[in-house]
Amino acid sequence: MSTVIYPSPIFGPVHSRRLGVSLGINLLPSDGKVCTFDCIYCECGFNHNHIPTRPLPSRKEVAKSLEERLRDMKQNGPAPDVLTFAGNGEPTIHPHFAEIIDDTICLRDRYFPKARISVLSNATQIHRNDVHDALMRVDNNILKLDTIAPEYIKRIDRPTGNYSVENTIERMKAFNGHLIIQTIFMKGTTEDGIDTDNTGNEYVIPWLKVVKEIAPESVMIYTIDRETPTHGLTKASPEELDNIRDRVIAAGIPCTASY
Ligand code: SF4
Repeated sequence: MSTVIYPSPIFGPVHSRRLGVSLGINLLPSDGKVCTFDCIYCECGFNHNHIPTRPLPSRKEVAKSLEERLRDMKQNGPAPDVLTFAGNGEPTIHPHFAEIIDDTICLRDRYFPKARISVLSNATQIHRNDVHDALMRVDNNILKLDTIAPEYIKRIDRPTGNYSVENTIERMKAFNGHLIIQTIFMKGTTEDGIDTDNTGNEYVIPWLKVVKEIAPESVMIYTIDRETPTHGLTKASPEELDNIRDRVIAAGIPCTASY
């Protein structure tokens, strides 16, 4: 098994399949993972195998490290296409997430005004007004919705606390279109023999119906790219992803597929 724990609070830049030259901002500890999901496909590994000993980076540390890195990129390149909140878990659980977004917007405007700010989130905190309002201020508010089937979410995304997909969908609608839905499609089975295939119509049709109701600005679908902590998971094929992508586009919503 070879999962990835990212440096904190800044990592990269990395070339992202979906986002271009991306400078990572990791609001989680540098020596472990903190997430409100424990996805069986998480490239950081399972939560219990990566319990951190270090604290979350402070707002001040994030701003200082980000400014140093942006200043260096201004002098030596490359110019970032995007500043991406991602890393070892769920960024919106940071208690100063909203203020850090404001700091990041200021620094972006000063050093690379054309760069976009993206947040990759599992959407578990969007019921909080401070998180909702902060996400309204970023360019790419990318929220996970792997399926709308509660049983699948329980088995695959594995929320660590109370989670209601119905409430999450309602809160997604409250962004009034200022969101990008991100969904992984995959196949295979877990080590316990549980089927993880969500590419069939029994998953895609109800998911697509809800996506239309949420009316996001776009949808990103993807599949497993790196090694996962669960063995037995396999990629959805390009044909399957293209088929789902085309159905989203036919519904009038821009959609990209990454293989
Ligand atoms: S939401 Fe993201 S960081 Fe959290 S467990 Fe799932 S894949 Fe990993």
